[in-house]
Amino acid sequence: MQQLTQHFIDNCWVASNGQARLPVTDPYRQEIIAEVTVGDPADVAAAVAAARRALPGWQALGGGRRGEYLAAFADALTARRESLMRLSSRNNGKALAETAIDLDDAIACYRYYAGLAHELEARQGRNVSHSMEGVRVQTFEDPAGVVGLISPWNFPLVTSAWKIAPALAAGCTVVFKPSEVTPLPEQALAEIAEEVELPPGVFNLVHGDGEHVGAPLTAHPDVDKLSFTGSNAVGEQVMHAAARGVRNVSLELGGKSPVLVLSDADVDQAADWVMAGIFFNSGQVCSATSRLIVHESLADALYEALGQRMDAIRLGDPLADDTDMGPMTSSKQRKVVEEYLEIARKEALVAVRDSSHRQLPEQGEFVAPTLFRDVPVESQLWQEEIFGPVLCGRSVSNDEQAVELANASPFGLAATVIAGDVERARRIGQQLRAGSVWYNTEQLVMPEASWGGFGISGIGRELGPWGLAEYLQVKHLMGPES
Ligand code: NAD
Repeated sequence: MQQLTQHFIDNCWVASNGQARLPVTDPYRQEIIAEVTVGDPADVAAAVAAARRALPGWQALGGGRRGEYLAAFADALTARRESLMRLSSRNNGKALAETAIDLDDAIACYRYYAGLAHELEARQGRNVSHSMEGVRVQTFEDPAGVVGLISPWNFPLVTSAWKIAPALAAGCTVVFKPSEVTPLPEQALAEIAEEVELPPGVFNLVHGDGEHVGAPLTAHPDVDKLSFTGSNAVGEQVMHAAARGVRNVSLELGGKSPVLVLSDADVDQAADWVMAGIFFNSGQVCSATSRLIVHESLADALYEALGQRMDAIRLGDPLADDTDMGPMTSSKQRKVVEEYLEIARKEALVAVRDSSHRQLPEQGEFVAPTLFRDVPVESQLWQEEIFGPVLCGRSVSNDEQAVELANASPFGLAATVIAGDVERARRIGQQLRAGSVWYNTEQLVMPEASWGGFGISGIGRELGPWGLAEYLQVKHLMGPES
């Protein structure tokens, strides 16, 4: 069994000061495939000190050279693409076709920020045009400093890439804590840092859970900025920790995103996009469109089309080529979803499909793809993030009602609009309160467009130039022209 007993600090593999170990599981085979060390505050302190020492040199290196390192990260991930896909599928439980998308996303992200690092260098010291005579004003963008990055388990290598790549491009030095649930694929990032000979201390990885590593990292006074992706409950704690010392914080949190199917939509096409929006990664997606808002004239036909497609989902071994959907990533998450299904039973929600409609595989942390129709807005299943393959539907009688219902949520991460008339879909999309709005398409994600939430879905943006700006501080130099 693999043992992850070391952290990566100052370009060295160092024994963990914390002695506890956590099991790392394969959620399909339901077996322990590794153990990961749980670091402690001393491990965090060593990593932060290494990052602090490395900061001036990394900043001085300039964006162009930093971009070359990021391109080398992308190349190294590309070389390991197949093996990392298998490792990630094994540890996370998602089907290989899905880990292929993850790897490609992560590689594109490192490559994109390699380019932005070059651009950053080119624009350092640019003159500001203004009306004050005889005065020269120049803009510089300095790195935020030492950054503490914390990621969840649902998209290993992806949620971390969205932080690490822009942070390094900006000239920040990094202490990264991956999720203790999926440490195996993330471990490759430290191996790559070593392989591409990143300067010591620029990238540090400390393994462990939230209590022993995450919280000490957020509380460490020498961490200048925190970037966290995960649950709202922990996100609030991270923000609280950041308040001490007035430190910068970015949060990518949960969602309860709507998908609107308008009256002129093509039912079959809409069904395909609705399916992709909720059942990808077994529904363990922060942007999952888990609230279906359908025009009443299409509701019966759409539920029928969705039911047929749900019956055709092949549940099974994530490593098998014919699997569409793997198990939940952990028994803990399976139980969370089952608790919601118990609430649904008590509330007597009407299931178009649930576990009574299909046989689950004999092994694995599976939850049956589930669809409830006509769910009351007061239901916890309509209001709360379930983070599983559970879709809740409601009917409306016009576009105004659809928009009102879509926006009636404290979350605001994503939304999808589907209509026959593309312009109508786009127009309605503009009225939605969410960071990413898709119309007449599946959920497109690209490094050039931003990611982040309105409302309680988070603070700040990842990806695009906005993702880089999260790791920069703007400085103006002003004085006489000569
Ligand atoms: P989680 O909040 O339980 O854990 C996330 C990370 O925080 C883990 O690395 C964990 O070890 C760490 N952590 C736990 N307690 C901590 C503490 N007190 N201080 C510091 N760190 C701590 O979330 P999860 O279960 O891993 O992930 C699922 C959640 O993540 C969902 O709510 C989902 O919506 C959200 N998510 C959001 C996005 C986005 O882009 N908005 C993307 C992926 C996941």
